[in-house]
Amino acid sequence: MSHPTPEQLAAAANKCLKDLEQLPALKVKDRLAIPMQEMPSQDPQVRRHNLMEVALGYTPAQAKAEALRCLQCKNKPCVAGCPVAIDIPAFIQAIADGDYQKSVDILKQSSLLPAVCGRVCPQEEQCQKPCTVGKALKDVNQAVSVGRLERFVADWEREQGKVKLPVIKPETGKKVAIIGCGPAGITVAADVRREGHAVTIFEAFHKPGGVMVYGIPEFRLPKVIVQKEVETLEQMGCKIQTNFVVGRTRKLLDLMAKDGFDAIFVGVGAGLPKFMNIPGENLVGVFSANEYLTRANLMRAYDFARADTPIFRSNKVAVLGGGNVAMDAARMAVRLGAKEVHLVYRRSRVEMPARIEEVGHAEEEGVIFHLLENAKRIIGNEQGLVTGMECIRYELGEPDASGRRRPVELKGSEFIMDVDTVICAIGNESNPLLRQTTPGLDHNKWGNIIADASQLTSLPAVYAGGDIVLGAATVILAMGQGRIAAAAINKALAAQPAGQT
Ligand SMILES: Cc1cc2nc3c(=O)[nH]c(=O)nc-3n(C[C@H](O)[C@H](O)[C@H](O)COP(=O)(O)OP(=O)(O)OC[C@H]3O[C@@H](n4cnc5c(N)ncnc54)[C@H](O)[C@@H]3O)c2cc1C
Repeated sequence: MSHPTPEQLAAAANKCLKDLEQLPALKVKDRLAIPMQEMPSQDPQVRRHNLMEVALGYTPAQAKAEALRCLQCKNKPCVAGCPVAIDIPAFIQAIADGDYQKSVDILKQSSLLPAVCGRVCPQEEQCQKPCTVGKALKDVNQAVSVGRLERFVADWEREQGKVKLPVIKPETGKKVAIIGCGPAGITVAADVRREGHAVTIFEAFHKPGGVMVYGIPEFRLPKVIVQKEVETLEQMGCKIQTNFVVGRTRKLLDLMAKDGFDAIFVGVGAGLPKFMNIPGENLVGVFSANEYLTRANLMRAYDFARADTPIFRSNKVAVLGGGNVAMDAARMAVRLGAKEVHLVYRRSRVEMPARIEEVGHAEEEGVIFHLLENAKRIIGNEQGLVTGMECIRYELGEPDASGRRRPVELKGSEFIMDVDTVICAIGNESNPLLRQTTPGLDHNKWGNIIADASQLTSLPAVYAGGDIVLGAATVILAMGQGRIAAAAINKALAAQPAGQT
């Protein structure tokens, strides 16, 4: 099927709106008949060679046509599916009415980062899953495109230069330290600062933004969007101290005992990559997806001639894993010039945890899928460079504890895959630094910090949220926990007499 051009999609939306104007009033059956507005995107053959965003965003006519598909259900099942309970029908109605500012204002009551969430949230598993339109049309993929509409109106606000600074209450004299500048930390910073508390964010990397900057590639989430959010925090008066590793540069509890902070939020994410533990993982040409993506995104390794830390030039790449991180690594390898990129996953497509859209995009860009296969060992030459990978085939057996069918090795099915690079994208866990350097900070057997319903940890005035509590999760869940923690911090600080530290 040929790739529709943005012009074709825009023309179709214009015609759709003209036809709707002929109707005296929009009935449910008319709304259900409006075609779902496809997102304009770069042609796969073009975008394989650039890092620019794949999805191009709706035109106003497309946004209106899509917004008119919403049935404005009284019971709002979509809101129940949203981890931060955005009033989805209301923000969509405002788009249909052409009142974009109202729409943004509604979004921002619940979500600090709508331009990010509109791009990267797994909507098909959240707000769009229970959508009445998808149910009526018997296809969840035909649900109202909540994420695309969220992105449309958030981009409108940014492009108009209309981003409003939140009102900040008078200074309280209380100080809050935030460890980690990912979505969880950013959310806490904004909510705590609004109450008039002084906020300092300590970030290990040289750039703030967390995974939104170092993990999720530019072609899915342009860095300028995250940068803008960080600038807003700075304009609100939050201080951001980069290249500061809490646990190394300063111990967590010293921030309170020696530096006078009244409360701490720990939002350090789950940045420690897991490996396969197979022979050959120490060869040159084996990367974790984290390292590969961090070099490409944060260190601008794609700029081979000018990058301070250029990345290994690959010809044939194998990516191990079937989640979003694996898709990002594979699609980045395509853009960095690999001739072949093979994605190796030990279960079938049905069990793949990656978003369907990401899998589709990877396929369109030429990533070759090897399902029901896995690596057994990585093979190298006498210089220690990867020259191949021994793989084995699988079949699906009975379901395991996760409910997914267990992959079972097919004895004697081993074969060699000819590759010079292997990227391991089989998951992340928490970095042990903070728990090793903070006595009394309770964690579970996976190393995640334990927090109660208000995100308070086992230590007084120390809160935690996001991936460090949930395990590798999502941006919106990290933000959701950030909001809860901020509310608890604000309540606890309000209860303290002024000036008490
Ligand atoms: C490649 C990739 C793609 C993803 N794609 C999606 C997606 O499409 N949609 C989605 O919803 N989610 C996605 N995720 C998951 C999502 O990005 C995370 O769930 C989310 O970023 C977690 O937010 P956080 O604030 O808890 O942590 P993070 O975003 O990890 O931020 C933590 C920050 O803390 C800093 N830090 C760590 N230790 C210290 C320390 N000791 N001192 C100071 N700073 C420290 C880190 O440098 C980092 O900047 C993806 C993840 C990856 C890796």
